[in-house]
Amino acid sequence: QEDIFKKLVAHCKEYGYVFPSSDIYDGLGAVYDYGQNGVELKNNIKKYWWESMVRLHENIVGIDSAIFMHPTIWKASGHVDAFNDPLIDNKDSKKRYRADVLIEDHIAKYDEKIEKDVEKARKRFGDKFDETLFRQTNPQILAHLEKREALRESMAKALNANDLTALRQIIIDNNIVCPISGTANWTEVRQFNLMFSTEMGSTAEGTSKIYLRPETAQGIFVNFLNVQKTGRMKIPFGIAQIGKAFRNEIVARQFIFRMREFEQMEMQFFVRPGTELEWFKKWRETRMKWHQLLGFGAQNYRFHDHEKLAHYANAATDIEYKFPFGFKEVEGIHSRTDFDLSQHQKYSGKKLQYFDTELNESYVPYVIETSIGVDRMFLQIISAAYCEEDLSKDGKQDSRVVLKLPAALAPVKMAVMPLVKKDGLPEKAQEIMDLLKYDFNCQYDEKDSIGKRYRRQDAIGTPFCITVDHQTLQDNAVTIRHRDTMEQERIPIAQLYDILKEKTDL
Ligand code: ATP
Repeated sequence: QEDIFKKLVAHCKEYGYVFPSSDIYDGLGAVYDYGQNGVELKNNIKKYWWESMVRLHENIVGIDSAIFMHPTIWKASGHVDAFNDPLIDNKDSKKRYRADVLIEDHIAKYDEKIEKDVEKARKRFGDKFDETLFRQTNPQILAHLEKREALRESMAKALNANDLTALRQIIIDNNIVCPISGTANWTEVRQFNLMFSTEMGSTAEGTSKIYLRPETAQGIFVNFLNVQKTGRMKIPFGIAQIGKAFRNEIVARQFIFRMREFEQMEMQFFVRPGTELEWFKKWRETRMKWHQLLGFGAQNYRFHDHEKLAHYANAATDIEYKFPFGFKEVEGIHSRTDFDLSQHQKYSGKKLQYFDTELNESYVPYVIETSIGVDRMFLQIISAAYCEEDLSKDGKQDSRVVLKLPAALAPVKMAVMPLVKKDGLPEKAQEIMDLLKYDFNCQYDEKDSIGKRYRRQDAIGTPFCITVDHQTLQDNAVTIRHRDTMEQERIPIAQLYDILKEKTDL
């Protein structure tokens, strides 16, 4: 799996999906650029989210707020005082780690051990293997589970109490060592604030410290009244936003899973107090369905309901996906009570209330938040789509790498290929391009053999390739080749628009 992940990262670079930022200067930690195909996929993901959130819900509207915001906002939201991660250094390797992530990785090792035991038993028992029973009764597995749960519990306790000494003690007691130096020679654990700051204003006296937003949500909260009043919104209603966020993450790893500059798609849903848990449940289900509709297999998603809740939340869950490096969060759904609006009310001195005409009373609305990272969703999709296929036949070795992206999200919808570069075929192919390019992202490709061209399109995930041959000049029909099945059929050019429309519409 680790191996597949390395190949995936290389594939993303080779096929114009993701490049390290400042590549010719050897990169910049946890910052990435999207290439010619990456930007298309990213835009399609954003469109998929925006259409399902904003266009299909009559009571949800979008905004685009600024990255720079008044510094007091981050005081009110709690980010200045509490948006911290527990940091620990290994004195030998001089490497920094997030103490909680070190422990989480250690917890994940128990899962790996369990899966290995199951795999071994499956091989040993063959058809007769009852996996459920084995998991429930095998003493070794039960011991691993017990240790894992105990560790989880003590970490949650230490984090909840903000007890940095206890967190360090867990690392020591469990013999967790630095993956680089292999030693347990650690410093104390200390808090590290994740916000980037800069200065606004040009004169020394006139400057003030401001932050690059670490989440887009606060731009929605501070615009709550602006939108509610100007849009005449009635509760329940939502405000959605897509935009950049910045976090000075301590550990940069796993490619675009954890970045220092990334993009979020967030929606805050404002509800009547007392109805929030009902709405939380509804959004929890709705969001899971949205993910599963992409067709990557329901078994690869799961909920992780939080036992440990932030002080302002009364329910929280993550939607996790099975990445090549294990189940990890893709999206968070939180019931945030009236915490944010009340805090902004207090710090700004402005009333942030809603007059409910049905109840004939004013209140600070409660909020359900759905929050997902565009880049993380990108990684989820591309790791789910990446396939290495063995096509060897009759003793002849052959293989291909194909991105089985949902057609609606694929960067290029159709590649148009003249069979040869002469006899009027390129001109005919160009005619087809002109017919379709206003509605679909199509790519013209005339270089190399048809076989090579197909493989190139497979590697970027193009769902359809059409070939223009000499016959086309007579009958106005082309060969269409389907990416996943590699089947080919002959169809009239006049049908191409309808096929693309049907298969690639979001
Ligand atoms: P984690 O526990 O992994 O640090 P979080 O719980 O702090 O994440 P949230 O603040 O809930 O994350 O952010 C909402 C979503 O934004 C996440 O589900 C994730 O998809 C995305 N996200 C958060 N931090 C990053 C990051 N550094 N890089 C890429 N995406 C991120």
